[in-house]
Amino acid sequence: MENNNDSNKDNRKKNNKNIIIISVVITLMLFLLFTYMQSMINASTYKEKTYKEFVQSLEDREVKEVVVTSNKVEYKLKGDDKNITYYAAGIADKDLLNRLESSGADYKAKEQDSSSSILNFVGSYILPLAGIWIFLWLMYRMISKSGGGMMGVGKSNAKVYVEKETGVTFKDVAGQEEAKESLTELVDFLHNPGKYTKIGAKLPKGALLVGPPGTGKTLLAKAVAGEAKVPFFSLSGSDFVEMFVGVGASRVRDLFKEAQAKAPCIIFIDEVDAIGKSRDSRFGGNDEREQTLNQLLSEMDGFDSSKGLVILAATNRPEVLDKALLRPGRFDRRVIVDKPDLKGRKDILRVHAKDVLMDETVDLDAIALATSGAVGSDLANMINEAAIMAVKAGRMSVCQADLFEAVEVVIAGKEKKDRILGKEEKKIVSYHEVGHALVTALLKDAEPVQKITIVPRTMGSLGYVMQVPEEEKYLMSKDEMLSRITTLFGGRAAEQIIFNSITTGASNDIEKATELARAMVTQYGMTDEFGLICLESVENKYLDGRAARNCAESTSGEVDRVVMRLLKECYQRAEKLLSENKDTLDKIAEFLYEKETITGKEFMEIYREVTGAEEEEKETVLDLSFEEVSTES
Ligand code: ADP
Repeated sequence: MENNNDSNKDNRKKNNKNIIIISVVITLMLFLLFTYMQSMINASTYKEKTYKEFVQSLEDREVKEVVVTSNKVEYKLKGDDKNITYYAAGIADKDLLNRLESSGADYKAKEQDSSSSILNFVGSYILPLAGIWIFLWLMYRMISKSGGGMMGVGKSNAKVYVEKETGVTFKDVAGQEEAKESLTELVDFLHNPGKYTKIGAKLPKGALLVGPPGTGKTLLAKAVAGEAKVPFFSLSGSDFVEMFVGVGASRVRDLFKEAQAKAPCIIFIDEVDAIGKSRDSRFGGNDEREQTLNQLLSEMDGFDSSKGLVILAATNRPEVLDKALLRPGRFDRRVIVDKPDLKGRKDILRVHAKDVLMDETVDLDAIALATSGAVGSDLANMINEAAIMAVKAGRMSVCQADLFEAVEVVIAGKEKKDRILGKEEKKIVSYHEVGHALVTALLKDAEPVQKITIVPRTMGSLGYVMQVPEEEKYLMSKDEMLSRITTLFGGRAAEQIIFNSITTGASNDIEKATELARAMVTQYGMTDEFGLICLESVENKYLDGRAARNCAESTSGEVDRVVMRLLKECYQRAEKLLSENKDTLDKIAEFLYEKETITGKEFMEIYREVTGAEEEEKETVLDLSFEEVSTES
């Protein structure tokens, strides 16, 4: 990758010129200062006298020593602690020798020494100045290396990466078929802009890639450049925004200037919301950002798209973007790059597994099924983690157990081996986790259990139940939602039934259950009390999906009451189910307590043994158990 330190050489030249001018001025000032100081020092130790005064001092026998040169006499006086040298301009004095002799002073003659005065000059002026020059130069180097400081202001040193050829193609981007399709058109346009302009078609100027983090927006932009074989300019929206007003705007100008010179090419602005935030903010504006945005808008209007310049921008908060940025002629195309579905995840896993050695136990479809909700970067990360685990274990290839462990590491963190739970706590955690799993098994609509563990993980959980759906679902029925809430309450209910006390361990379950129940009431119209009404709308869909209330205060209170009722009913259901199956609960919890991690298969065996339940279709998925696979490897 060629890191073209930002936009312009012009700018850099300008900066260098400024630095030279500043240095010359400083040097001149220092020179004057030195001269002045030197003369001050000289004035105190080297004083001029008249020849008459000199003769007088000789006659008074006050002179200690005299140095006679061709044009002056220099002398020192006796008893002078300041060691001042006096001098008097020489005149043709024939009696000088006699005078010296009779004064009793030491005297000698000296030739005018030109070399010493040169040395003197060098020592007192040139050397210090050279020292200062070197110091200034080093300072400049340091500042320009750190890429900023006062001297860096206005310099377009935003991290623009220019890649002549990204080397990424659409093949490297998996599971984003629709996005690829919409971008293919741009590729064609970059290949052959003339084809479009001939007919009189206006070429698209930009496309906005919208989606959650890690879904491959940057990758797609690179793939567009790679497919079209054009240079790729990339920088992040936040690179534009500086403390100094106007810097961002000048960077935008520079960027467009440089890109236009290299057209056809692609400019990619990541996190465009950093500059493109709506300007009508109620909380006061941000001058720098607004100026930068204005500059961006005017550049987008101004450039000649027939040359084949396309601007791609990525964001995960499209709702905060300024409307002006989205109007036709700017980022008028919106390409959604959403979380991948089951097939997408399979494809992404395959793309990343391509370069990793895998043994025959590996079944990427099963991993894809277990990673619902994961985005491309998570999946890439999982494959890499699995490869690292295989290396750590001294194996030559990755096996399915590595992959499953990697899934857990990415979702729940690494095992925290040094956290030893006390006996009582371990027992509580065992019952809590088995509570979840047992409710799951007892409910028809819940997803099958894959694994139960009470080994603490670094992301804070003391234990968890891993559930894997049989197939990817896009819709959830009311019953499934209620089952999910009931399952979440299984842990707390088990604690209550067995120990008749409750712990803090259920906080995360309660939070999730409440979120689900609230969504049922406010977004999905699943309750009789409210029926079909939208009481909350999701604000930032691609980030945390927080919902904003859009109902009256009093309705909100009513919503809370309905949510409470739903949660209470689910809890009671969980409690009832577990009380009826207390034996099974005890048995499995005991088993888990001993083994710390049990597979879904082991769980179902004990479950069937105690309850005498028939084997169901569901259990086929449980064959992907960890232990089984790891022994094979
Ligand atoms: P975003 O820009 O959406 O936050 P990136 O494009 O930076 O995400 O993705 C980060 C990494 O995740 C990529 O470098 C790639 O390795 C992987 N990745 C993400 N999505 C995909 C995908 N659809 N296909 C293949 N790899 C992907």
